[in-house]
Amino acid sequence: MTRSEIEKLANEILNKYVSRGGAHKQFNKICESENIKYREIKSNPYKFAGVFTKATNEQKYIIINSNMDNVGRKNFTIAHELGHYFLGHQLKSHVDTAINEECSNKDPIEYEADYFATCLLMPEEKVIRAVTSMLYRLNKGSCTTPFCITKSNYKIWATICKYLIERYGVSESALRYRLKTLNLINITMH
Ligand SMILES: [Zn+2]
Repeated sequence: MTRSEIEKLANEILNKYVSRGGAHKQFNKICESENIKYREIKSNPYKFAGVFTKATNEQKYIIINSNMDNVGRKNFTIAHELGHYFLGHQLKSHVDTAINEECSNKDPIEYEADYFATCLLMPEEKVIRAVTSMLYRLNKGSCTTPFCITKSNYKIWATICKYLIERYGVSESALRYRLKTLNLINITMH
């Protein structure tokens, strides 16, 4: 699937299940409606992140390691597993050990699930609107994008970043990746 096809699929699911707020607040509703049982277990964070699987009686499960220090990362993992389901991936005894929030996984199936998670958690149109309106308010009436983050305007970025992390329930690395690929920000400093 192409990136725009994945984005379209994620938008269809958002239209169906998420009327307002972030998708991460509707995970329970999505799982219930799709007849997926959601479970958490405590496991080694370096060996297990999550899995989408079917039992022998065809019952679908998403199982997530609750032993994750970053709530954004956990949300991304749930969205990734939902991606395997909605994208119709045929997974045989596959367990995700580490989820790549910057969508740089070489395996095309994993890449698709990562990109789906990005689109589901941070919908393109809403993100663009949120960033430009915040920029307008914080950056002396200018909302030109990409916003070049420098040392002198770092406070503006920090405010936007904090707000969006909270709103979309993602980690900073997932957010940065999304904003960079949507050409909304440009980080020139380290
Ligand atoms: Zn996966």
